[in-house]
Amino acid sequence: MHIAVVGLSHRTAPVEVREKLSISEQHIESSFRALKSKEEIIEVSILSTCNRLEIYALVQKSDSGVDAIKAFLKDHSGLSDNDLFPHLFNYNQEEAVSHLMRVASGLDSLVLGEGQILSQVKKMVRLGQENKVLGPILNRLLTQAVSTGKRVRSETNLGTGAVSISSAAVELAQLKLGQSLGKDQLVTLESEIVSVVGAGRMSRLLLQHLQAKGCSKLNLINRSLDKAKALANDFPNINIHCCLLSELDHSLCNSSLVFTSTASEKPIIDSHRINSLQDRRSSLRLIDIGVPRNISADVKGISGIDSHDVDDLHEVVNRNQETRQKLALQAENLIQEERRLFLEWWESLEAVPLINSLRSSLETIRKEELQKALSRMGPDFSARERKVVEALSKGIINKILHTPVTKLRAPQDRSERLDSLKKIQNLFDL
Ligand code: NAP
Repeated sequence: MHIAVVGLSHRTAPVEVREKLSISEQHIESSFRALKSKEEIIEVSILSTCNRLEIYALVQKSDSGVDAIKAFLKDHSGLSDNDLFPHLFNYNQEEAVSHLMRVASGLDSLVLGEGQILSQVKKMVRLGQENKVLGPILNRLLTQAVSTGKRVRSETNLGTGAVSISSAAVELAQLKLGQSLGKDQLVTLESEIVSVVGAGRMSRLLLQHLQAKGCSKLNLINRSLDKAKALANDFPNINIHCCLLSELDHSLCNSSLVFTSTASEKPIIDSHRINSLQDRRSSLRLIDIGVPRNISADVKGISGIDSHDVDDLHEVVNRNQETRQKLALQAENLIQEERRLFLEWWESLEAVPLINSLRSSLETIRKEELQKALSRMGPDFSARERKVVEALSKGIINKILHTPVTKLRAPQDRSERLDSLKKIQNLFDL
């Protein structure tokens, strides 16, 4: 059996490919069904975020298992081999384990060390458990990945500084405003007329960073007004006007900077919408962190529109990555340690079938010998005395087995363990 991961991420695929692969929570059950129906796949789990789609699986054989996952991804995306396969990566065994632990720790994130990915990995565990597609191996791997992510955040400084996709989006707005003023630097957003579309987790983070960067007034547009109002209530220091999506055109006309971060599967803003606006301002900057994208790519050519998607965040992220890269090195050591612990645990499982067989063989002998002894004792032997003798026989077997079982399961070189297993098998004729 092998652990394999197949997927794509911001490192291997542009947003226009990633958005075709993304699996929303409502489609997760059918995706699990499709994957589990493949005989090569024993256990499976899906990580779908704005920057990655990764399928982790315990497979019978790595080649055919990986092919089965690729076939699923092809069906799911509707992309051709040529459009999909060059963007996919695949890791097996130790590399797959390290990769997941790096992902959970934020080391593979666009914004190095961002914290949202850990919640997304936790969600992957929950969905896998709820849909009963995790077995003992992936369950252990995923829960250990979550604890590794927590360790990295508590034992290194990588997680400090509240970095996220939303903070990078706000920085991109600052940078673009600065560049439009002839300065290649981040400037305050005090002068911007800001709208935020969406009132979920990412919008909350957007509001936090906008407030920190000088924004004191904004429009908050959402599909449901009560969610927008609830979010606005948490930011008493910003003057927030909440409205429904039906008023989006009005906000687009009045704003100079619009962020979009909804979970809509289709674009909310496209060229038709922008071209139909009456009296919009001469320049409008749009920053979309939704995946699938909330803003269609066709707005990019429109005069006066400066539109950016999540892949454009590289520009700001690359500017301040150096310090975080140094912190990331500390985290790599922790990841190697956690990887070793997981693999040791997994390898120790190799001894389990033989241990079970040894136990059952000794148990048969114990029962037979006990029976003989009890029948020799005759009826004078009380029920209590019989129980004592039975407990004695069990105790002796357990004591004898304790040391060899502990040694067989203890971390050791694989060939040594296999050698010991073989000897026991021969000696006890198992
Ligand atoms: P979230 O907390 O689930 O919030 C979803 C938001 O989208 C809510 O405001 C919801 O409106 C709105 N929405 C959902 N379906 C919609 C539809 N069909 N039309 C219009 N609005 C709709 O999601 P999130 O975590 O903030 O993520 C938002 C977007 O950012 C997603 O595209 C995600 O891929 C992307 N993103 C997320 C992360 C992350 O770490 N979570 C990071 C980067 C980018 P209601 O309030 O009315 O339900």
